[in-house]
Amino acid sequence: MSETHSPDVRDRYGYALCGLGPAGCGFLLHAIREGAIGRLAESGLVLIDRSATPGVGKVGQYQLTGNSLSRAFLDCFDDPKLTWLFDGLEPSVPSIAELRAIEFEAPPLDVVGDFLTAMAQRTMAYLEKEYDIPILLETAVDTIQRRADGHYTLNLRDVGSGRHHDLDVENVLCSFGGRQGLDVLKDCEVQAGLKLGDHTQRLMSSDDFLMLSNDEIQRAVPITADGEVVVVGGSHSAMSTIDRLTDGLGPVGLRRIIMLHRGSLRLYYASVEEAERDRYVFDRELDICPMSGRVNRFGGLRYRSFDVARSILDTGKTPNQSIEVVSVPLHETQSDAVRRHLNQASAVIACLGYQANLPPVIDHWKREIGLQNTPRGLEIDDDGRALLADGQPLAGLFVYGIGSRLLKRSEAIGGERSFHGSADGVWIYQNHGGGVILNALRKTLTYGVDGTNPSSWGERHARIAN
Ligand SMILES: Cc1cc2nc3c(=O)[nH]c(=O)nc-3n(C[C@H](O)[C@H](O)[C@H](O)COP(=O)(O)OP(=O)(O)OC[C@H]3O[C@@H](n4cnc5c(N)ncnc54)[C@H](O)[C@@H]3O)c2cc1C
Repeated sequence: MSETHSPDVRDRYGYALCGLGPAGCGFLLHAIREGAIGRLAESGLVLIDRSATPGVGKVGQYQLTGNSLSRAFLDCFDDPKLTWLFDGLEPSVPSIAELRAIEFEAPPLDVVGDFLTAMAQRTMAYLEKEYDIPILLETAVDTIQRRADGHYTLNLRDVGSGRHHDLDVENVLCSFGGRQGLDVLKDCEVQAGLKLGDHTQRLMSSDDFLMLSNDEIQRAVPITADGEVVVVGGSHSAMSTIDRLTDGLGPVGLRRIIMLHRGSLRLYYASVEEAERDRYVFDRELDICPMSGRVNRFGGLRYRSFDVARSILDTGKTPNQSIEVVSVPLHETQSDAVRRHLNQASAVIACLGYQANLPPVIDHWKREIGLQNTPRGLEIDDDGRALLADGQPLAGLFVYGIGSRLLKRSEAIGGERSFHGSADGVWIYQNHGGGVILNALRKTLTYGVDGTNPSSWGERHARIAN
């Protein structure tokens, strides 16, 4: 496979961190703060990303205000344990002042993107200088091959030249982000026997839709007079999609959005008292996070998404009252009615979660290894390893970030019992999530790679949950 060889890169590494978006960089920041990065560097750590700008991933591309407070994004930057790392950076990065000015509001995600990029640049410079860690940017991982000896060969492609290069690693930490492939969405059943692909020509993923400007939305969704758009789902992405439809198509005549969703819309509250003041009905056993006392901490709609949901629940309209939103609970609605909505819609936008965006994972015969990469994420065991189709873990292959079902509610990261998804977000990648993956890698050091006990690593970070 190899055509060229980069001169600065060894042939063999203990750990490859592939994907330096918010999750990959969040893990690195956690490892630095916990004093674990030196141990990983000693074992041979290489960092790889397809883009030229680590840190931001996709989050800066969505045309949205975030679903976290500016304070949550700044938390790691302001952590006294990391003051030395970011010393002197603030005056040269305007996005930091922008975030501080709206500390207790949800910021625009492009501002967040600038800020995460600046933090990552500083972090990368430190890792390179202090530990000599190679950072391969504009380098795509094209395949991950598990060899007969249990190690992995990463086939890397230089994005500029197209040249390939193989790397031998013992453990791969994949944080390639998520994917909402149309092939997968078409096969999704909204009700038994009712596949999205069978009933609409105009199917879009929320991931693609949320990156469009208003002009692009108007070109992508040509509505007719009295046209309807169907949104499938009731998550943050669904509320953001309704918001963007309002901005993009409200001025050109969209009057109705049909929201097909399972279950009720769940709202987030910072405390039980806040939820009670708002007369929100919730289950005291199932909906309160025992770690933080928050209501629907992982599964609840926050900030702008909260406002959109609240408006739909209270008035049946978008927050500016311009567009009717018809809520269609799938478990209570006849399939004929659902089919009619899908057939009539000018567009159907599916907000249905993310698969892991892994490149092909192949065996030593170059046959694809089947992983449990479901439409709602890749299944992972408690030690962070990807699960094979037969339920066994694939040793040495860890998957983190959006599209991975690693961060399920647990004693380590908290979360309400009614939450059955996987937690995502910049703060959790830098905090409890980073701790989960660090502990998983710690086991490979203890038992797998060289038998030494990495007890010098810091204990799990126990800051109070966002
Ligand atoms: C619409 C939306 C809004 C969100 N808003 C918020 C928010 O307000 N607050 C919040 O905390 N979280 C938010 N999130 C959740 C989460 O923080 C983001 O989705 C975040 O971008 C996920 O980070 P990631 O690193 O897992 O993936 P990504 O951001 O997708 O990053 C993946 C990285 O992997 C690299 N990569 C991909 N493929 C390859 C390859 N083959 N080879 C090498 N490198 C590769 C990419 O270049 C990129 O750097 C939001 C998510 C969505 C979908």
